[in-house]
Amino acid sequence: MNAQIEQLVSLQAIDLEIDKINDEIKQEQEELDQRISALAERESRINEIDMKIIELEKERRTLEDEMTDKIARVKERQSKMMQVQTSREQTALLKEIEDAKKNAKENEEKIVSIMEQVEELTTQVTEEKNILKGEKALIAEETEKVRTAIEKINKGKKTKIGKRDKLAQEVNNALNNKYDILRNRRNGLAIVNVFDGVCQGCFMNLPPQQYNTLLRGDKLLDCPSCQRMIYYQQREN
Ligand SMILES: [Zn+2]
Repeated sequence: MNAQIEQLVSLQAIDLEIDKINDEIKQEQEELDQRISALAERESRINEIDMKIIELEKERRTLEDEMTDKIARVKERQSKMMQVQTSREQTALLKEIEDAKKNAKENEEKIVSIMEQVEELTTQVTEEKNILKGEKALIAEETEKVRTAIEKINKGKKTKIGKRDKLAQEVNNALNNKYDILRNRRNGLAIVNVFDGVCQGCFMNLPPQQYNTLLRGDKLLDCPSCQRMIYYQQREN
């Protein structure tokens, strides 16, 4: 294998290691982000319930204020009973009393129903708040863990980048540019091996003549299908 090919192959190997490190960092961060957004969802659910409770309490106070008037209405109608003369007037008044009582009773039932709803929502929201508190503590712990893990990964990454840059300096400029462009366009793989006439970047067959040239191992060739640089190295058994 010629020196240029060897340099590029080493460069590709270390770049793939750095890519893997970057993926690890990304994965650590993404998992944490997911948990944090789940936390935010729970928080907004809690806020919604709290708002609902406030609304219901407001409605209950309005109904309680109305209750005083409704009871007063029943009493006022009842006190009129003594003054009515005819049975027709009496029947009409009795009906008014019945209606007023019914109205007051409906009002009371509404109040009871609201109180039940508030109680249920309060139980639910208390539970949610307890879970949230636990989750927050866990995530604070997890954030610290992820921070430490990323810090550790970054240390290894720094060493590798140092090595990588030194290697890249040894490669001639034109080849280095070609390598960088291919890495960007070809999913991180700029130079690949060919096994049994098959490019290991795109898995297409090489034309036999080109494969024969490649087997001599002294020339850097491009894959006609994916344009990656190709080399030949015997498979290790
Ligand atoms: Zn190819």
